[in-house]
Amino acid sequence: TYTLGPKISNWDQERKVWLSQNPEFPNFVNGKPRILLLTGSPPNPCDNSIGDHYLLKGIKNKIDYCRIHGIEIVYNMAHLDKELAGYWAKLPMIRRLMLSHPEIEWIWWLDSDAMFTDMVFQIPLSKYDKHNLVIHGYPDLLFDQKSWIALNTGSFLFRNCQWSLDLLDAWAPMGPKGPIREEAGKILTANLKGRPAFEADDQSALIYLLLSQKDQWMDKVYIENQYYLHGYWAGLVDRYEEMIEKYHPGLGDERWPFVTHFVGCKPCGSYGDYPVERCLRSMERAFNFADNQVLNLYGFGHRGLLSPKIKRTRNETVTPLEYVDQFDIRRPVHGNS
Ligand code: UDP
Ligand code: MN
Repeated sequence: TYTLGPKISNWDQERKVWLSQNPEFPNFVNGKPRILLLTGSPPNPCDNSIGDHYLLKGIKNKIDYCRIHGIEIVYNMAHLDKELAGYWAKLPMIRRLMLSHPEIEWIWWLDSDAMFTDMVFQIPLSKYDKHNLVIHGYPDLLFDQKSWIALNTGSFLFRNCQWSLDLLDAWAPMGPKGPIREEAGKILTANLKGRPAFEADDQSALIYLLLSQKDQWMDKVYIENQYYLHGYWAGLVDRYEEMIEKYHPGLGDERWPFVTHFVGCKPCGSYGDYPVERCLRSMERAFNFADNQVLNLYGFGHRGLLSPKIKRTRNETVTPLEYVDQFDIRRPVHGNS
């Protein structure tokens, strides 16, 4: 069967030795595990040029979040393995980054169509000390319903370790484009509740793997739903004004969603599950909602959630450091609560 590369079986030990020999590349900095955020898009232009504009907004949004929180970022446009084109492209890239960056403790995949909408919230990594995969989802949907949307592979974190390499190896075999992916799609549709008939996708394949080999994997998988590591856009984007009125960034949950993910929209492709105008309007709102949190530091904000135009939100001053103390969102006073 298909493999992602030569079988690696001693990564934990080899990485440990490397880390001890390369103290200038520590996997923890100031007590915090080093995180690398990985995202990407297809190697070619979108079918529609507005799609490329929203990819640009999507990456600007991620750069802003990562800059604020000291997270490194990689944007991949290559198909490292042409058999794993499309949504499967994340797998070989995650593996490649783990092996090329032993100093990275967590690799965080985030889809191009997902945006940070809480610029203050930080992932509570210490909660996952004993886990190697963190993914948004619902255990009852997974184990009781066997639903194909029990987990969402638009946003998840892998620890850089042997276990993760093994999971990637077990996950990949349904991926190769062509007859393998087509046939595997039939198995997934037959076994997962609510799944339409189509070729094997990475999300269904992961759900199926965790269901069929529960004992082997689940003790190291953390299914997160206390905050929106992935948040389905349709229930969120129309509530932003209400959130602004009632709450504040830093909560990360339904009161102020950490991530808003445009599942089913496909502005870069030719067809999605929703009208394209509704998707673009909603993406514009999410982007501006997030961008307001960034611009606030500089004394500006969008005129409205649908407007690219900005306005001044406070006057210039001769004592700018007061504002630095007040508005810098990295400060603990703005932290999770
Ligand atoms: N992706 C990629 N290269 C590709 C196709 C997709 O890097 O050739 C990434 C992109 O970030 C996208 C994610 O994989 O958001 C999931 O792919 P999917 O086709 O499900 O797109 P989405 O619905 O998320 O736009
Ligand atoms: Mn997506």
